Amino acid sequence: MTRRLTVVGASVAGLRAVESAREHGFDGEIVLIGEEVTAPYDRPTLSKAFLTSGEDPVEYRSLEALRDELGVRLLLGRAATGLDAAASVVRTDQGDVGYDALIIATGASPRRLPFGHDLGGVHTLRTRADAERLRSELVAGARLVVVGGGFIGSELASSARERGVDVTIVEGAPVPLVRAVGTELGGVFAELHARNGVPLLCDAAVSAFRSVAGRVCAVDLADGRSVPADVVVIGVGALPATRWLERSGVALAADGGVLCDDRLATSLPNVYAAGDVVSWPNGSAPGDGATPTVRLENWTSASDQGRRAAVNALFPEDAEPFATVPYFWSDWYGSRIQFVGTADADEVSFVFGDRDSAHFVALFRAGERLVGAATLNEPRKVMKYRRHIALGGSWTDALSLFSTPATSAQIAS
Ligand SMILES: Cc1cc2nc3c(=O)[nH]c(=O)nc-3n(C[C@H](O)[C@H](O)[C@H](O)COP(=O)(O)OP(=O)(O)OC[C@H]3O[C@@H](n4cnc5c(N)ncnc54)[C@H](O)[C@@H]3O)c2cc1C
Repeated sequence: MTRRLTVVGASVAGLRAVESAREHGFDGEIVLIGEEVTAPYDRPTLSKAFLTSGEDPVEYRSLEALRDELGVRLLLGRAATGLDAAASVVRTDQGDVGYDALIIATGASPRRLPFGHDLGGVHTLRTRADAERLRSELVAGARLVVVGGGFIGSELASSARERGVDVTIVEGAPVPLVRAVGTELGGVFAELHARNGVPLLCDAAVSAFRSVAGRVCAVDLADGRSVPADVVVIGVGALPATRWLERSGVALAADGGVLCDDRLATSLPNVYAAGDVVSWPNGSAPGDGATPTVRLENWTSASDQGRRAAVNALFPEDAEPFATVPYFWSDWYGSRIQFVGTADADEVSFVFGDRDSAHFVALFRAGERLVGAATLNEPRKVMKYRRHIALGGSWTDALSLFSTPATSAQIAS
C-alpha cells in the first residue's frame, strides 16, 4: 500500500501531481523535493511579462497553502543527487528521502554551447533567478544578441525590444522553428522580427564570443561576421534534467528523456515521470502507423502529465494511458501564436487570413486528415481544431469547421 508519495521537481508537473493525488483521495504522506527555493511559479512568464512589466511570476500556490491545505512536506532548495530503486530511496544533497511511489518531474535545463558561459553578460533562461539576472542587464540602449531563434529566444527578443534594447537574433538553421511549426510557418513567424526592427541572421553559426575584461563584447560568426553585444542569451534548446538519475538504472530514450510506457511508468518499479523530462509513446500523436515516442516541452502537457502520473502511480489498478494532442502558445510583439498537433504534413493551407495578415489560421494536412493548426491572434479557434485532431477528424471537415468559407491560400503541397 502506498503510504508515501515522493515527487522530485517542484514546478508545474510536480505541483499538478501533488494536487491530483489529493483530489483523488490520497491521504498518505506527500513529499515534494525541489532545487529552487520558491513555491512553484509560472515559468512561461519569465520571457514575457517578467521582463517587460517587471511583474513577479505568479505562484500557483503559496508555500503555506501547499503545507496547510494540501499537507505537503516541502523540501525546497534541495537537489536530488541519485535514486536507489532497490531501497526505494531518493538521495539528495541533504540526506535520503524514501518513497512508496515516486514521480520524477525534474523538467529540462538549457542546452549549453561548448564555450562562453563563463563570461559576464552571457545568460541562459530557465529559472526565476536566471530571469532576474537577465532583466537587470536589459537596459535601454544595450545591445543584446540572442543565439537561437526558437520560441523562447523570440519571446525574449520581443520583450527586450519593448525595453528599448537593440536586439539581433542569430539562428543556425536557414529558417527558425522548422521542427515546431514547419518551414512555411517558421518563415511566416520569423517575419514578425523584421517588422518589429529585430534583425534575424539565419544560417549563421556562432564560432566564438569576444570579451573585454571577462565580459562579452561581440559574437563572432563562422562566416567572418561579428555582431557587437553587451548581453548575450543562449537559447539553443533544453535537455531533460536526468543527470541525477545516471546510476539509477532507469531507462532513457534516444532523445535523453526518461523513457516511460503509455501510462507514464518508468522502467523502475513504482517510479513514474511527468513533464518536460518524459519521453513516452503518445497515442494521440496525429498520423497513422506506429506510435512515436516523443518528448514535449510545453506547459499544457507537463501539467496534464503531472495529474495523470499521480493517479497512475497511486492507483495502478485504475491506471490509464496518457495521450495528448500537443499544444503550445507563444507571445511576440503583442501577437499570440498558438499551435496544436504536428507540423509533419503534406500540405499547409491558410483558411483564415494569409501569411501577411495580423490574424490567421493555417491548417496542416497529412493524407486525408487534419494533423496540425497554427494560428496568429485567433485564440478562440485553435482549441476546436485541437479537438478535431484528437478525434481523428478529416481534412474536408476541418476546412468547414467554422462557418466562414475557406479561402485556402495554399502555400505548399
Ligand atoms: C522562459 C520560458 C518560457 C516558456 N514559455 C512557454 C509558453 O509560452 N508556452 C508553453 O507551452 N510552454 C512554455 N515554456 C515551457 C514550459 O515552461 C515547460 O514546458 C514547463 O515548465 C515544464 O514543466 P516541468 O514541471 O516538466 O519542468 P520545469 O518547469 O523545468 O521544472 C522542473 C523543476 O525541477 C527542478 N529540478 C531539476 N532537477 C532537480 C533535481 N535534481 N533535484 C530537485 N529538483 C530538480 C527544477 O529546479 C525545476 O524547478 C517556457 C519555458 C521557459 C523556460
